[in-house]
Amino acid sequence: MLQGVSPYALAVITRLEQARDGWWPGVVGAALWKWYCFVRNPYRRVWVDYPDGGCGIFECCGSPWLARDMIEVVLTAMSPRSGRDLRRIVDRLDQMY
Ligand SMILES: [Zn+2]
Repeated sequence: MLQGVSPYALAVITRLEQARDGWWPGVVGAALWKWYCFVRNPYRRVWVDYPDGGCGIFECCGSPWLARDMIEVVLTAMSPRSGRDLRRIVDRLDQMY
């Protein structure tokens, strides 16, 4: 999901994944993938998060809204220039929603 993102941006993402509580290596890519699947889901408008968190595996039952929030955290942490590639990917997905 992170193809086309600059090496610098990837470095920022990696640093955030290590620095933030509750994040882990690869979580941003997983969040992007989750948001991507969500906006392509024809039933997204009636999506309801699993009340009990589902199986507890973010990649499986995690909230797409939580995933989108995580992506926003990443974008906020980057300068507009370094976040440009990622922003473009996310904008395209947001338009699909
Ligand atoms: Zn699950």
